[in-house]
Amino acid sequence: MATIIDGKAFAAGLREEIARKVGIVKQDHGVTPGLAVVLVGEDPASQVYVRSKGKQTVEAGMNSFEYKLDVDTSEADLLKLIDELNGRDDVHGILVQLPLPKHINEEAVINSIAVEKDVDGFHLSNVGKLSIGAEGIVPCTPLGCIMMLRDHLGDMSGMNAVVVGRSNIVGKPMAALLLAESCTVTITHSRTRDLPAVCREADIVVAAVGRPEMVTGDWIKPGATVIDVGINRIEKEDGSTKLVGDVEFESAEKVAGAITPVPGGVGPMTIACLLYNTVQQACRLNGIPVPE
Ligand code: NDP
Repeated sequence: MATIIDGKAFAAGLREEIARKVGIVKQDHGVTPGLAVVLVGEDPASQVYVRSKGKQTVEAGMNSFEYKLDVDTSEADLLKLIDELNGRDDVHGILVQLPLPKHINEEAVINSIAVEKDVDGFHLSNVGKLSIGAEGIVPCTPLGCIMMLRDHLGDMSGMNAVVVGRSNIVGKPMAALLLAESCTVTITHSRTRDLPAVCREADIVVAAVGRPEMVTGDWIKPGATVIDVGINRIEKEDGSTKLVGDVEFESAEKVAGAITPVPGGVGPMTIACLLYNTVQQACRLNGIPVPE
């Protein structure tokens, strides 16, 4: 049976560590890291995310600035708000909750965020920095995955890593991070031929597909480490719903060496990494060392 990589506990530890660093930065330098979160419209899932981001930001001792804009807010007004936030000294991270309403150009909005305040790591400059291995801001979900992998595996050099999914927010940055760890990386997608056979070669499998329980135990090499990014709500036979990942946990845990569960794996790490990125940037923007 696989070791369960407990993302919930790992994220709780990371948040404690962040709160400790925030305390030091406040006390020694008089800087309170601040995160601004902008939500346009009333998408229920986005509202839940924004609430938990705000709550965890405050719990870590940081300032949380929330902006809830009407669904029909114009792109120009949104860009004006971002421009204001870019110029504020008390805001060190800016996150615009995606998806945005259709009349707003997401790319234009993301790229209007100051590169050094782009704590989601989606700005083209940060994407470019990650791809050339320069210091920049790494997207939160893959950052959480690589932290758990480093913790569990230590040196990953020379390992075969297969990333299932090639999205800009998970698959591609995940592959770049694994490459930076000197893994031999394969990125797979909906056109990949014989995906199960490709996965069976992997020492590390990261599944970010959005298809409930697609990766089954017979796709996994015995002893491999499996990171399940997927979050899918499915209906059970009795009509109630439950969350499952992109990996069929029951069969995969019998073969894998280690595996993240859903819920309680990658999910909790994402917000913790957002706080992590904000503290890093508060220090960089103020020219102060990040506390050990
Ligand atoms: P996208 O829909 O943007 O990308 C999905 C990727 O999976 C695409 O590259 C697609 O390939 C590939 N894919 C789809 N079907 C198959 C298939 N049958 N075989 C192989 N590859 C396939 O999803 P995201 O990357 O945004 O998210 C992936 C999952 O991760 C979702 O469940 C999402 O909810 C979850 N997620 C979780 C987060 C967290 O905090 N834990 C954060 C972000 C996402 P192609 O490009 O060819 O279409």
